[in-house]
Amino acid sequence: MAWPEFEARVKGGDTPVFMPIGSHEQHGLHLPLNTDCLVPTAFAERAAKEVGGVVVPTFVYGYKSQQKSGGGQHVPGTLSLDGATTIGQIKDIIKELARNGARRFVMMNGHYENQAYMVEAIDLALRELRWEGIRDARFVATNYWDFIDKPTIERIYPDGFLGAELEHAGVMETSMMLVLHPSLVRMDRVEDHKPASFPPYDVYPIKGELTPRQGSLSSPRKATKEKGEILLDVCTKGIVGAVRKELAKG
Ligand code: ZN
Ligand code: MN
Repeated sequence: MAWPEFEARVKGGDTPVFMPIGSHEQHGLHLPLNTDCLVPTAFAERAAKEVGGVVVPTFVYGYKSQQKSGGGQHVPGTLSLDGATTIGQIKDIIKELARNGARRFVMMNGHYENQAYMVEAIDLALRELRWEGIRDARFVATNYWDFIDKPTIERIYPDGFLGAELEHAGVMETSMMLVLHPSLVRMDRVEDHKPASFPPYDVYPIKGELTPRQGSLSSPRKATKEKGEILLDVCTKGIVGAVRKELAKG
């Protein structure tokens, strides 16, 4: 949009502004490096359509890939930000949007490791906005996978759910990408492999060999378009419900 449309939509403060936050991170042999950008962007677009929101450009880099949730920084193609940079870029844009009149924010995280940094960016932005006399900014912070409820898990994972962390480049992300961007998913490259197994502690430097060779932390083999439709539907409904409940006008 051009600035007059932006002004008309954002200035009054009633329009929910969706901020997708992604990463540039390896996603196995079969998914693109910007998977964590494409998925939350799609959720933001779908939810914004329902609630009359606007979507700002996606943050395309995120916090460092952790071995137990993203395979780790050692896998080629993973380009990440330091924690302070991750926080700073999000906080800066929140404040810029607030300076333009935005007051209702929907944070759409698509990368597990961003969570604490997103929360810190919100907290610092709220504090600094208060210093500027802005006290009515409100946020809904989401990780789309948190909306996947038990009945959905039972439908998608009849053999058991390993947890959101081990879903990195597994059935969940692959299924959604089969719906959203099928031309970017190379199912012919998918290899069935055991889920990653990690000790209940961390060592640094990490032992790269604990990450499955493929880069995915669990096998994407059972991903289907149908599962992707279910996941997209459940999470979109959840996000829309949260925005309606928490960011209603007045
Ligand atoms: Zn991912
Ligand atoms: Mn990720």
